[in-house]
Amino acid sequence: NKWVYAFGAGYSEGEAGMRELLGGKGANLAEMATLGLPVPPGFTLTTQVCTAFYENKRQFPADLNEQVETALAKLEATAGKVLGDPANPLLVSVRSGGRASMPGMMDTVLNLGLNDETAAGLAELSGDRRFAYDSYRRFIQMYSDVVLGVDHAIFEDILDGFKDENDYSLDTDLSADDWEQIVSRYKTAAATALGRPFPTDPREQLWGAIGAVFMSWMTERAKTYRRLHDIPASWGTAVNVQAMVFGNMGETSATGVAFTRDPSTGDSGYYGEFLVNAQGEDVVAGIRTPQCLTEAMRERMGDHSPSMEAAMPESYAELSAAFDKLERHYRDMQDIEFTVERGRLWMLQTRTGKRTAKAALRIATDMAQEGLITEEEAVMRIDPSHLDQLLHPTLDPKAERDVLTTGLPASPGAATGRVVFDSDEAEERAKAGEKVILVRIETSPEDIHGMHAAEGIVTARGGMTSHAAVVARGMGRPCVSGAGQIKIDYAKKLFMVGRRTVHDGEMVTIDGSNGQVLYGEAKMIKPELTGEFAILMGWADKTRRMKVRANAETPQDCQTAVEFGAEGIGLCRTEHMFFDADRIAAVREMILSNDQDGRVTALDKILPMQRDDFAQIFRIMGELPCTIRLLDPPLHEFLPHTEEDVMDVATATGLPAEQLMARARDLAESNPMLGHRGCRLGITFPEIYEMQARAIFEAQIAVEKETGFQPLAEVMIPLVATVAELSILKARVAGVAQAVAEETGAKPKYLIGTMIELPRACLMSGEIAKDAEFFSFGTNDLTQTTFGLSRDDAGKFLGDYLEAGILEKDPFVTIDRDGVGDLVRIAVERGRATRPELKLGICGEHGGDPASIDFCEDVGLDYVSCSPYRVPIARLAAAQANL
Ligand code: PEP
Ligand code: MG
Repeated sequence: NKWVYAFGAGYSEGEAGMRELLGGKGANLAEMATLGLPVPPGFTLTTQVCTAFYENKRQFPADLNEQVETALAKLEATAGKVLGDPANPLLVSVRSGGRASMPGMMDTVLNLGLNDETAAGLAELSGDRRFAYDSYRRFIQMYSDVVLGVDHAIFEDILDGFKDENDYSLDTDLSADDWEQIVSRYKTAAATALGRPFPTDPREQLWGAIGAVFMSWMTERAKTYRRLHDIPASWGTAVNVQAMVFGNMGETSATGVAFTRDPSTGDSGYYGEFLVNAQGEDVVAGIRTPQCLTEAMRERMGDHSPSMEAAMPESYAELSAAFDKLERHYRDMQDIEFTVERGRLWMLQTRTGKRTAKAALRIATDMAQEGLITEEEAVMRIDPSHLDQLLHPTLDPKAERDVLTTGLPASPGAATGRVVFDSDEAEERAKAGEKVILVRIETSPEDIHGMHAAEGIVTARGGMTSHAAVVARGMGRPCVSGAGQIKIDYAKKLFMVGRRTVHDGEMVTIDGSNGQVLYGEAKMIKPELTGEFAILMGWADKTRRMKVRANAETPQDCQTAVEFGAEGIGLCRTEHMFFDADRIAAVREMILSNDQDGRVTALDKILPMQRDDFAQIFRIMGELPCTIRLLDPPLHEFLPHTEEDVMDVATATGLPAEQLMARARDLAESNPMLGHRGCRLGITFPEIYEMQARAIFEAQIAVEKETGFQPLAEVMIPLVATVAELSILKARVAGVAQAVAEETGAKPKYLIGTMIELPRACLMSGEIAKDAEFFSFGTNDLTQTTFGLSRDDAGKFLGDYLEAGILEKDPFVTIDRDGVGDLVRIAVERGRATRPELKLGICGEHGGDPASIDFCEDVGLDYVSCSPYRVPIARLAAAQANL
């Protein structure tokens, strides 16, 4: 088995397509080498080594050593340096690199290969003793921490103590001799902690680091990250061993991170940061505030330090040529790491850059317009769930803003919440339903869960490419980074900014689009769906086959649905209309009546209100189809809960309170979800469905008279299990339509169909289709009844099922293709066999879930229906499903 792949200037055994084997970083290093870009030579241990390691009791394959030696020899030949050779020492970095990027989650060791002899050699060779011993102490600390498990605080204490003894305040105050002394103290401390000397043999160091990186695949934080991002543990990580290049060799050296386009807005023009005389980690860790890459960016940010374009014009020119080459080659925005060592440029990494939804749209549409990709590729480039970011409110530009401070606009969008300073606490409080804003000096991979739980993130330190900024953009959380005026006191749980103090639990608002941190709650506005959004949705609409409707019952929701491009109402849950203040008393009166006369009296009161509800919907929806479902939930859901409510009903009906209570007890069920609900109500109390049907038809006629257009109602009978239920109720509804037509002299335009939400209905769908003009799959109930899993209670234990791998996804979120999906497929086939023109849709929550929408395309549904805010997501997902 080939476990190791080498690369270096002009040669590479791998290529970009081998990402599964080499990980993203290794594959792209190989590709950059092939493209002739200046890549420090190195080699990649494949993800298969990781898998083999874990399968074989954490032991490496027997022939790995030999392959590493061969690759190392090649590396040494290319670099012209030798690992462990005091006269000409090679230093390497050892880094993880999985198939999917897991920023900051895994371990890295830099400057490997140093010991007393090679450090002296490096000092000699570089002509810079200070640099050599600074690198050496960094290596001891990093290696001890990452590989040997020695607490890094020990080293920080030594350094702080040394600075105190010598009255130094900054690291830059230390001389070469000072660092050499630090090195010796570090070695002693490491030896004491370990009970044996710090390893000096570079080969031993190398294998220690390789082992540590593979081990870091299974740390808790890596597991959490994988769980949040759906990355299977079986993928494993690759390990890259690469010759070190140094951005910290004086003023002609630098290191930086750049994007080929702006990852926040998508604007074209390079976007990045660099630090002179620094190592790569310094940029990402947010320890020093970096400088802008380009002049344009520097002007925009009002920054005073010189840009790289101005400070290092030659390296910058070479770098920008590399950016263009990489973007054209990969045909996507790249996220690039580079180092300049004494004026010589080295490319350390390239990958497809993470971006906000806004930037994703801009970049995809720009690239399609530039001819770099096709319109269809542009449609495929956008993650539908990512659109969610754009569909939510932003801060009203006209609103009053009590600005506490302004940091960097690291991830756009606005968020309001209560201040919390700790990630564990953020998670707990979010779980308890609180909206929180996580405020940290800086974030690290240990904060991932807190960032995920928070509505937004603020950091006091760090640039636009700091951990907080990158992770927040990836998660779609608004973020303000580098708000340097904020002084956080974790112990007292407060932060100060100027003269003001904000305590834990106080409300703040952040605007990630301009970097403002505001005190209190600020007014938000609806998003504008124009520009690139509209262009891309236009391309999506051209591409999709399925229609997209919305689940909506209030005029406001219908309005939102139309604005978001809904092509009809797929589910109007009429029970929601029963709860409105003006009618709940009448509804209760109807339910608690002992006989049909009593019910009809109460229903007569409800009729005009229902009619008005439907009329409002039809006015908004025009001639778009509106699926209106007749009453579904068990009646006890509407019953009065308090004594006061009971008395109200007693007053309205003139019935004694005692009698009402007794009736309420009668209606109680031990298993209401499987009880007297859905069409079963219509069978027992046909007058309820007749009232609703009348309200629908009369509203149609009224709106038609008023506006001239002809509303289309699809009257839907819920929870049907037998064709007989449907036949009886269909006849009733059709009877009402007939009556209304005779009374008004106008004919309402309507279809009668059913929900398919019980397994028996799926199996009997051939029969049911005889009486149904449409089916709408109610996959919430269908999932509930197929699994025998209560949709209201499963949340309490489904987590265990997901954790144990019994279920891959929550079946109430993403449709279970194998089981529930198969029932849907059967129903589609049998239904269409009976009635080829049968209209088929889905209105369960799955109608807004991209993976489930893909399934709906597969089985050939005519439309999906989802909540209004998900309509654009569904439009895009439906387009992608059809590509
Ligand atoms: C369903 O069961 O999928 C459905 C849409 O109906 P409800 O959620 O109202 O039960
Ligand atoms: Mg249902």
